[in-house]
Amino acid sequence: MSGQPIFNRLALIGVGLIGSSIAHAARKQGAARSIVVTARSAATRRRVAELGLADQVVETNAAAAEGADLVIVCVPVGACGEVAAEIGPHLAPGATVSDVGSVKGAVLRDMAPHIPAGVHFVPAHPVAGTENSGPDSGFAELFVNRWCILTPPPQTEAAAVARLAAFWSLLGANVETMAAEHHDLVLGITSHLPHLIAYTIVGTAEELSQVTRSEVLQFSAGGFRDFTRIAASDPTMWRDVFLANKDAVLEMLGRFSEDLSTLTRAIRRGDGDTLFDHFTRTRAIRRGIVEIGQDSPAPDFGRPHPDLPHAPLPRPYAADD
Ligand code: NAP
Repeated sequence: MSGQPIFNRLALIGVGLIGSSIAHAARKQGAARSIVVTARSAATRRRVAELGLADQVVETNAAAAEGADLVIVCVPVGACGEVAAEIGPHLAPGATVSDVGSVKGAVLRDMAPHIPAGVHFVPAHPVAGTENSGPDSGFAELFVNRWCILTPPPQTEAAAVARLAAFWSLLGANVETMAAEHHDLVLGITSHLPHLIAYTIVGTAEELSQVTRSEVLQFSAGGFRDFTRIAASDPTMWRDVFLANKDAVLEMLGRFSEDLSTLTRAIRRGDGDTLFDHFTRTRAIRRGIVEIGQDSPAPDFGRPHPDLPHAPLPRPYAADD
């Protein structure tokens, strides 16, 4: 423990990558006096108990919410509304309800009607993750030096926002506040569109590989391997993200398609200047990301280190023969 508890009783509803990471980090940092969790399936609840992630594992969302002064809903975006409807009547006056969803406008729309007067609602999105899911995948350091974006509705009490910001800071995150619509636009380009591209390109390669599967595997360079990592992300979570952030994603996809057409035309016409100028601009963005500490400059593009054993590739990328 390294801090003063900011909340008495932290309730986590949903214990996948994000829920379990919050449990690890909150316990390590002493951010709450006690942690109660619940998950949809008995199997996950049993696993959470085995892992000792919380002080108490309860069977229902309502039981988790009762008596908690911070409730964080850590389920896929499309399920946030129904969870809010379940916990609404059980929330203690003065409690704070938050979430971790990757889309904020839809979460605000779906959850807000169920939050009773006297309860603070401060949606949040920790911009941190891996391609893994489930209660075993979490770790305490996930949020360190990552951003957590809070999107409180305009009428939210400043003290409630500050208290949740202090919680996330204690877990190691840098906290930023913005409007939900703006969040969805920003994340549409920085996270959602890249995931869509990764899902697309890996699918395209998989179809190609029916002809040249072993070549795709053998000669896959860092770029493709990075795409396969992103494209291994949880299908439920990402289905919900695209459905919930439809407008912003379609807007970004439209711009992306136009830029892709420009580069396609440059390649077709042999217009090297256009390609060179474009790649020079994008290189500057990468350098900027490294400069502000959001990634390491180490030249590691997912290639295995020579001393690591070569694990077999998972299907469908493993060759048939
Ligand atoms: P996850 O590892 O797949 O865990 C999801 C949890 O939600 C599990 O406990 C699951 O219960 C529960 N759940 C699934 N569907 C549900 C439903 N319909 N009703 C109630 N509970 C349900 O997911 P995660 O990666 O932690 O993501 C959780 C949230 O964090 C999502 O909203 C996502 O957008 C957001 N987020 C994810 C990342 C990331 O990189 N993964 C990063 C930032 C934010 P069972 O285990 O019982 O099925």
